[in-house]
Amino acid sequence: MKKIVNLISDTVTKPTSGMLEAMMNAEVGDDVFHEDPTVIALENRLADMFGHQAGLFCPSGTMSNQIAIKCHTRPLDEMICDIHSHVYQYEVGGYAFHSQIAVNPVRGEQGILTAELIEENIKDLKDWLPRTRLAVIENSGNRTGGNCYSLEQMRAVSASCRNHGIKIHLDGARIFNALIATQLKPQEIGPFFDSISICLSKGLGTPAGTVLLGPKDWIAESRRIRKAMGGGMRQVGILAAAGLYALDFHVIRLAEDHRRARKLESILRGLAYVESITPVQTNIVIFNLARNVNPAEFVSKMKAHGVNCSAFGKQSIRLVTHLDIDDPAIDYTETVLKKIGSEL
Ligand SMILES: *Cc1c(COP(=O)(O)O)cnc(C)c1O
Repeated sequence: MKKIVNLISDTVTKPTSGMLEAMMNAEVGDDVFHEDPTVIALENRLADMFGHQAGLFCPSGTMSNQIAIKCHTRPLDEMICDIHSHVYQYEVGGYAFHSQIAVNPVRGEQGILTAELIEENIKDLKDWLPRTRLAVIENSGNRTGGNCYSLEQMRAVSASCRNHGIKIHLDGARIFNALIATQLKPQEIGPFFDSISICLSKGLGTPAGTVLLGPKDWIAESRRIRKAMGGGMRQVGILAAAGLYALDFHVIRLAEDHRRARKLESILRGLAYVESITPVQTNIVIFNLARNVNPAEFVSKMKAHGVNCSAFGKQSIRLVTHLDIDDPAIDYTETVLKKIGSEL
């Protein structure tokens, strides 16, 4: 079989043998009746880590974010988020569908929302205006190249939301990448947020699952919404066991994904057909091709050589490192990137 280096996303990882063994040995029960001990252990472990009261295991990050939006708002409210954010760009407009709210997508500083941006965008209380009820921030930012909030940036945006009586949700699909890169601890940042969504199936490498964190009674309400969305699952401790395993073994190693992403960045810097690169902070590398290079053609040439990547916006390409990308895979990618220079 031809070797494929898949840099399309960190969602493409396959469970390791250790993870599969943990899944096989999971003690399970019916989670709709709240009787799966492994799910409960995972929910409690993440809640404790981030200093929250309770957790809720969800099938996907999209469902977890959508439940959070639904539970923080009422119809005719509005949420503020960055224009590049996942909740705005990639969740099918679910905020309108599930929650009947408006969205105010603002242009942050490379995806980072500031206290000033929040304050400028909170609407006055008027009968004819949607009511600003929620802000969503994303850390690390997916579409903005895996960049991270600093502790001070999170503190400021959280304080601003609280001063104005609006809720703040963290889309932490890749929060562990951000924590590793910025050397922050979960309990340092958890209390800044009313709710947090944490994906297990990205950098942490499980087959599926996202945990939503928040206050106990708010999570109780979230459980009802999860059921209404069809996300109540039965012996799902099998997946929660993968999550617990990932917390034990796949968090510290995220630093390796970041090192390999920086290696890709330095390789790209030496290529004539690369115009610019978003500075790499975590495991996502986004770069712009020179004007005369067609991104679709670039992607297909890469693929012909066994390296999968995705076109991302007009002239950009995204590469994502993950659990299944080792040093030889990066070396092979380097060879291909250099070789296709003459084919473009
Ligand atoms: C992947 C991702 C999600 C959730 O995606 P699912 O595919 O539904 O699990 C949410 N937010 C961000 C920033 C993501 O990258």
